[in-house]
Amino acid sequence: MDRIYFDNAASTPMDESVFEAMKPYFCEFSGNPSSTHSHGRILKNAVEKSRKLIAGYLNAMPSEIFFTAGGTEADNTILCGAVSQYNIKAIVSTEIEHHAVTHTIEYLVKEKGVKSILLSVDKKGNINPEELSAVLAENPNALVSIMHANNEIGTLADIQEIGEICQEYNALFHSDTVQTIGHFPFDLQNTNVHYLTGSAHKFYGPKGIGFMYIKQGYPIPALIHGGSQERNMRSGTENVAGIVGMAHALEKCYSNLPEKEEKLWALKDYMKQQLTQHFPNVCFHGETEKGKSLSTILNSGFDLGGEERMLLFNLDIKGVSVSGGSACTSGSLIGSHVLAGIQADPVYAMNAIRFSFGIQNTKEEIDKTIEALKEIMYS
Ligand code: PLP
Repeated sequence: MDRIYFDNAASTPMDESVFEAMKPYFCEFSGNPSSTHSHGRILKNAVEKSRKLIAGYLNAMPSEIFFTAGGTEADNTILCGAVSQYNIKAIVSTEIEHHAVTHTIEYLVKEKGVKSILLSVDKKGNINPEELSAVLAENPNALVSIMHANNEIGTLADIQEIGEICQEYNALFHSDTVQTIGHFPFDLQNTNVHYLTGSAHKFYGPKGIGFMYIKQGYPIPALIHGGSQERNMRSGTENVAGIVGMAHALEKCYSNLPEKEEKLWALKDYMKQQLTQHFPNVCFHGETEKGKSLSTILNSGFDLGGEERMLLFNLDIKGVSVSGGSACTSGSLIGSHVLAGIQADPVYAMNAIRFSFGIQNTKEEIDKTIEALKEIMYS
């Protein structure tokens, strides 16, 4: 049987046309985009054309887009840079941010003496906007870092509302948008967000390339120093093929977003309905409805009488790749910091599966996965 891949939130398969767009930049065009001769200029043009295209899809300015080697680097650069540039005393975030954010904040607490304030999240992973207002009222000169969509449970944050609260209290706002760039329409002229992060391999582009959006008027210092590429924001010879591929992938995503979303929602709803029908012991972690959650992620948990049944491992043996929300095998501890953060019931969380969908997935694959799960749980 062909293997089934339901781990698109970890990385989407690269689109064939993206690879085609990248190819000439591996072998055909030699040179370095920083060189002023024609070989260099061809590459520089490709980089700038890609920047313009990406900015256009976000309704940002090309000068606000800076290429990085992915989402982690972008998050690190923004958090470390904003803290040093704006003498930030407190970072306001949640327990369920990606480790690219949580571990960077831990570093900033330890090395720079910044205070970390974690907002509470409810059982579905939502923050309380009133708590954010109260915290910002007490902590002037704060940096807020709240992800747009959670990569384990799919819950969406209302970045429009958070942005307005940040504006009211004069706080800087960074949102990790790694799971939503390419999946969600953005209008950065009308969203009060100062910093965003994107990563191409989450929207059918290549791995190891991403970008940060830095709003005009809110500059930060670089994390990586050297040859002054990216207008001094990210030194190092540009990954030209990656940049071209990322722009092409984004263009593809946004050129048919409504159809893509419709297909993904059909898959997610079908998986939810099938799981509910065949497993009375199932629960869903996080929001699962349109408008409140991502079409691409469905996190399920199973009550198997307090026994950890290694569902991810067993599904892998049966040809299905998924990831968790996995349990710590040593007892009632929850392995996922996100499931712990939403205080998921450990009985369900210890057998959690994150199904994450891509446009290449089919309903037949869902049927096969359900059959595989039945065999694992009922045999
Ligand atoms: N932020 C979120 C929400 C993610 O899901 C990921 C990747 O899993 C990252 C950041 C890190 O991105 P990258 O893999 O490009 O470093």
